[in-house]
Amino acid sequence: MDTAFMRKAFALIAKGLVEKEQLLQKEPARYPYSKALQHGINMFLAAGVQSGAVRDMARYADETSFLGHFITKPICEWFAEWDPHTIASLNLQEEPFYNYGAFAYQRSGNLFSPSSDCYEYLESQDSDIMDGTDERVLYEKIKALGQETYTRLRRYIIEHPIISIEERRSMSLELADTPDAKEAFQFAYEEVLEDSYRCPCCGWTMTRGKYGYLCHSSHCADVIPDLTDEMKLDASGGGLYRLKKGIMRYFAAPGKLEIAIAAFCEKKKMHWELWPQMDQYDVKVQFSDRAIWEIDAKAYRNPIALRTKILNDSEFPTGDYERGYYVVPDEYTKTQNNYTAIVNRALENRKNVTCVTWKTLKREINKREAACHEEQQ
Ligand SMILES: [Zn+2]
Repeated sequence: MDTAFMRKAFALIAKGLVEKEQLLQKEPARYPYSKALQHGINMFLAAGVQSGAVRDMARYADETSFLGHFITKPICEWFAEWDPHTIASLNLQEEPFYNYGAFAYQRSGNLFSPSSDCYEYLESQDSDIMDGTDERVLYEKIKALGQETYTRLRRYIIEHPIISIEERRSMSLELADTPDAKEAFQFAYEEVLEDSYRCPCCGWTMTRGKYGYLCHSSHCADVIPDLTDEMKLDASGGGLYRLKKGIMRYFAAPGKLEIAIAAFCEKKKMHWELWPQMDQYDVKVQFSDRAIWEIDAKAYRNPIALRTKILNDSEFPTGDYERGYYVVPDEYTKTQNNYTAIVNRALENRKNVTCVTWKTLKREINKREAACHEEQQ
């Protein structure tokens, strides 16, 4: 057992939780089983036995006892029974997973919903672990479209977390000439079948469960006040559609910042392009002296998740750019003011690439564009 083994165990557990969530949405009446989850549990327990920690492994071997005991605890507490020397010798405290919050919260009885930390951990892992998920399937579908259709569809998805049957019909009609685009569009949405509210935080659906509210991110439920009747969605006649959860999480939620960057440049009358070359990166900004900045908007609340993702990915998109930025929403740094410092540690060798907040990026863009005009005078 080594740290790669542990990383894989956590990736499988995270993947399994997400799979269960998807199965539950398809068949709400049936208890969802995931092979990935059981595999991950077995790996974690085996490592525990090897380290002399979990003497009585049988206690947690079945999914229900495992979930009940571990899944709503921050990851560092999963190692509570481990020998501190083993933890130190494996350098576990330095591993990204060790610093994550709980992977799930209780939905009802023995059902748990994945937390945003769970999604973020999964997203920072090797991409093959994501195969077969809704977001991956959608991505494969839209990647095959032309640049113009790609941009149009992606923007639509970001701006419309919930649509009516009429909107679905008219968009399908608009895309009738490109059947692949129409298929991708229809794949992205599913009918709303539960009593739901429009989440005041992200615009997706929120339901009131036995143990609290549920949205695509546990963060939404943490920050909203009580749901009111005005937020209620009328799905009585059927005919309301929402983005599938993974698509909301991976496309629409990060996309808000991408569109805000484009809108900011538009207002400043600067040249900009969303998802140039089919998503090599998110936004290309061009200044009056033709210099280019490449910007990638990131929606990881956990800075360690973003740092892992950056380290796992190959270089920042290549191209002739003066500066590259990973930009995160301002609110992420409110509770963690060292957020960008944590990420930038992974970028120490990259002189022209930095992680900044949206507020800082706006200031930098303003400064850079003003400099172009000073030179001209
Ligand atoms: Zn929400």
